[in-house]
Amino acid sequence: MPTEKLNLVPFVSVDRMMKLVHRIGVEPMLRDLAAAIEADFLRWAQFDKTPRIASHSDVGVIELMPTSDGRTYGFKYVNGHPSNMKRGLQTVTAFGLLADVETGYPVLLSEMTILTALRTAATSAMAAKWLAPAGSTTMALIGNGAQAEFQALAFKAVCGITHIRLYDIDPAATAKCARNLAGTGLTVTPCRTAEDAILGAQIITTVTADKTNATILTDNMIGSGVHINGVGGDCPGKTELHPDILHRSAIFVEYPPQTRVEGEIQQLDPDHAVTELWEVIAGRAKGRSDAAQVTLFDSVGFAIEDFSALTYLRSKLAETGLYEDLDMIADPDDPRDLFGMLLRAA
Ligand code: NAD
Repeated sequence: MPTEKLNLVPFVSVDRMMKLVHRIGVEPMLRDLAAAIEADFLRWAQFDKTPRIASHSDVGVIELMPTSDGRTYGFKYVNGHPSNMKRGLQTVTAFGLLADVETGYPVLLSEMTILTALRTAATSAMAAKWLAPAGSTTMALIGNGAQAEFQALAFKAVCGITHIRLYDIDPAATAKCARNLAGTGLTVTPCRTAEDAILGAQIITTVTADKTNATILTDNMIGSGVHINGVGGDCPGKTELHPDILHRSAIFVEYPPQTRVEGEIQQLDPDHAVTELWEVIAGRAKGRSDAAQVTLFDSVGFAIEDFSALTYLRSKLAETGLYEDLDMIADPDDPRDLFGMLLRAA
């Protein structure tokens, strides 16, 4: 616990988050987050679970993502606005909070735009560790926006991917991504089409943003044995894969009541069989069954991943000192004298 006074809440700003990521190292932090998320998926039953609470508009969505393990409560505020990018704004921004269940007092407030990109990539790579074909070396990365480099580096750090094939409808995004990945040790190949990008890839990540039922991948593009990491389809009416792909894939999800509404599987019958990823990790369900199977991680992002990321962040505060105390909780010495405290401040 970095803060002794309960009215002061440690706050991690964007600036301090960036310093913290550099202090730990991007790849070590992605590995740490993947391990933290995996450990929390292993104790799945201990968490309160609910689909996130979404407020939709024509252009985007604003969501609250709460969970608790009985000792600590957490939530994230996050938006998804694909049209933001054209206005010079982020598609996804976020912040989050942890609180002590015993007192209800907040114990951490943090920026989560960067932390979400890290935790999403860590979750993707953690899922691929269980589902992708053994010995995978090459990943196609379709959609080269804000999340892209994080995905590439997580697959390098966690799955041993050495080669990334990039594609985006906007060549400037691909050029930006290739530039940012130079010097990371990854071999990066910019491609002119999605068909070109998937050549020789054992893993295909789709992380595009468009508020529509897009077909970034069609069935004829998917060879046997490929693992698909579908990240960008995460909202009603916002998908990336042609339904034919779903019908021939073994589909793995985070939390079915949320994914059935938001994921690629919104395109399927509500009773179409899917496997919960935590069950694979816990040894209660099979992951990939054979080398020829097409596997799909239908990622939408679930509250437990944010809880894991925030808990990990909190564990790093004392040693790094990378936070400031926020005077966030009105906490008079006499708990019943809230008004007296206000009067004395005059
Ligand atoms: P971004 O706007 O920064 O980048 C999206 C990129 O996709 C852009 O470069 C755009 O040109 C490209 N694109 C759009 N349509 C395309 C197409 N048909 N083919 C190829 N490229 C295309 O967005 P971002 O922050 O990188 O997020 C990407 C997606 O990931 C969003 O849809 C977001 O909602 C989603 N997301 C999911 C999770 C999760 O946990 N599953 C977490 C964070 C973000």
